[in-house]
Amino acid sequence: METLTRDEGENACMAGVILRNLTKVFNKVVAVNNVNLEIRDSEFMVLVGPSGCGKTTALRMIAGLEEATSGEIIIGDRVVNDVSPKDRDIAMVFQNYALYPHMNVYDNMSFGLRLKRVPTNLPWPFNTRRAFSEEEIDRRVNEAAEMLGLKHLLQRKPKELSGGQRQRVALGRAIVREPKVFLMDEPLSNLDAKLRVQTRAELIKLHRRLGITTVYVTHDQVEAMTMGDRIAVMNNGVIQQCDTPLNLYNHPANLFVAGFIGSPAMNFVPATIVERNGELLVDAGSFQVTLPPEQAQKARSYVGKRCIWGIRPEDIYDKNLPGLVQPTPGNTITVDVDVVEPLGSDMEMYLKSNDISLIAMVDSASTAKVGGKLEIVFDMAKSHLFDPETEQAIY
Ligand code: ATP
Repeated sequence: METLTRDEGENACMAGVILRNLTKVFNKVVAVNNVNLEIRDSEFMVLVGPSGCGKTTALRMIAGLEEATSGEIIIGDRVVNDVSPKDRDIAMVFQNYALYPHMNVYDNMSFGLRLKRVPTNLPWPFNTRRAFSEEEIDRRVNEAAEMLGLKHLLQRKPKELSGGQRQRVALGRAIVREPKVFLMDEPLSNLDAKLRVQTRAELIKLHRRLGITTVYVTHDQVEAMTMGDRIAVMNNGVIQQCDTPLNLYNHPANLFVAGFIGSPAMNFVPATIVERNGELLVDAGSFQVTLPPEQAQKARSYVGKRCIWGIRPEDIYDKNLPGLVQPTPGNTITVDVDVVEPLGSDMEMYLKSNDISLIAMVDSASTAKVGGKLEIVFDMAKSHLFDPETEQAIY
């Protein structure tokens, strides 16, 4: 199969994107607040966060569709704050694919290339000429169509395509421009669940193949986790943490990231750190658990103080099933089983220890019964501790 690769030809030069102290204020709303982010060449960077956190505004500033209030945007080696969107060497894919309804797929994909003009040395009206020859346009459209499985659909109009096919045409329209940077704003959210998962995988493959620096905006943490080389988690216009998916999951920097990444969300339990016989315990009132030495060392300055203890649902085990964690008095408690939701291989359980609610993802072999008691084992080495004042992770 013909491939369009980025390591050959005139456009081999790619670009990273740097946001330096980037701020956007709309009237009095600070949508993006002093953001610093370095997106590497060829990287797939996901901006994720709840609605209104500023991710779209950040993307639109990179695209040049929104002017920065202050700070710098650097694409490749040039500051582009004053460069118009069409000269930034970027291509955008939006949630709303906005294809031209009267044009077929081929024309939708080639339209932008046909319009693009470059200056000549001749006087008006000959002072510009088309940037791309028909042969070059044809090559690019055919290569992109091949890559996206659209070759047999080139003559169809958008209304004769499925939602997924239309979104692929929108992607194709961006690919043919052979940009240095792709900017994508929730490009999959108009697709149904199955198609979204499928198109997600196609996008990942495409990125591997083209290696074009991509900034991808989504509110969906699963999409972020599966697609991003790195993820920047945003809230209230501020980047809370930027790291690889696994590091965000294993080492969230604060309560917001801990609660946002992971589904079902991490359990948070208000507690006090107490010392007994040289060991540190998390005293949640209704139960006490023991911190392993490594975690205890980091929590030592919190002895006698309030904190928030965190444990992910998947790090809680049914004591009656062979698990990864050896049950000990320091990691095992008895709880009431409130609700059990079978999900196939796992069961989501809503548990109660007096007034403390916990959600656990337990192997479906568990025989726990609603209304009954269950002994659960915490993987204490995977637990988290947060400062309730600063909301920062203690470990
Ligand atoms: P969503 O996922 O809902 O699109 P988002 O994280 O992309 O949210 P933005 O669209 O960037 O968030 O908006 C960030 C904040 O800026 C919000 O409070 C929003 O109301 C505000 N905002 C965005 N655009 C404008 C505008 N043109 N005028 C005024 N306020 C705006």
